[in-house]
Amino acid sequence: MRVDIVTLFPEMCEIVLKTSIVGRAEAKGLIETHCHQIRDYTKNRQKQTDDCPYGGGQGKVLFAQPIYDCLRHIQAETEPVKPHVVFLTPGGKTYDEAAARRLAEYPCLTLVCGHYEGIDERVIEETADEEISIGDYVLTGGELAALVVADSVLRLQPGVLKSPECYEDESYWDGLLEYPQYVHPAVWEGREVPEVLRSGNHGKIAEWKKEQQIARTKERRPDLYERWLKNHPEEDMK
Ligand code: SAM
Repeated sequence: MRVDIVTLFPEMCEIVLKTSIVGRAEAKGLIETHCHQIRDYTKNRQKQTDDCPYGGGQGKVLFAQPIYDCLRHIQAETEPVKPHVVFLTPGGKTYDEAAARRLAEYPCLTLVCGHYEGIDERVIEETADEEISIGDYVLTGGELAALVVADSVLRLQPGVLKSPECYEDESYWDGLLEYPQYVHPAVWEGREVPEVLRSGNHGKIAEWKKEQQIARTKERRPDLYERWLKNHPEEDMK
């Protein structure tokens, strides 16, 4: 999979994408990431990327033209594949694991970051396949949001994690939160690792993990629990 990030701050994204699991996966050639400087696509002498919005209001708005030209440049590079273009914006659809799984299927994904007040709406209308928000709060720029999306889709690519079980066994994959995890020592500050996890009985361990997932989801995320229950009516009978 190839992920492109369109941003005024490519260095902020590059440092994250070069780090840890995602960075190692790219070094091994399993994935490809590119960060593009919007300013490189400006056509004015000052390399200005933004200005005051029509109608007044606080802050500056990014011009449509450099973003559009940058997207065309990326598309020329990925030909014959057309990248799926996502604009990060607080007004977009809220991101979740289901969206990550869906986006992970695209061979080329382009993430466009706004900054300041945002982006001229016309380039969004012209080029966006979708708009995504990473939550009901406002960041100073789309870089952190793009990195959240990039990380969550890249970790699902073959070979990036050791095996599919690594992500299938985690929170949200099957609609539930994960069970609690423990590592040695068996007793720490008087707190013991649950006996069953040390029993070596794999059947009982699996049962305990499932019970913990259900209990934790019911307590912490009743919304998720209700949704999960609808798909598992047999659990309601228990
Ligand atoms: N004026 C915009 C509004 O009120 O919706 C907020 C602009 S925000 C300060 C600047 C940029 O940060 C946005 O263009 C977007 O790219 C990014 N951003 C901020 N919050 C975000 C969120 N929750 N999800 C995704 N992107 C976000």
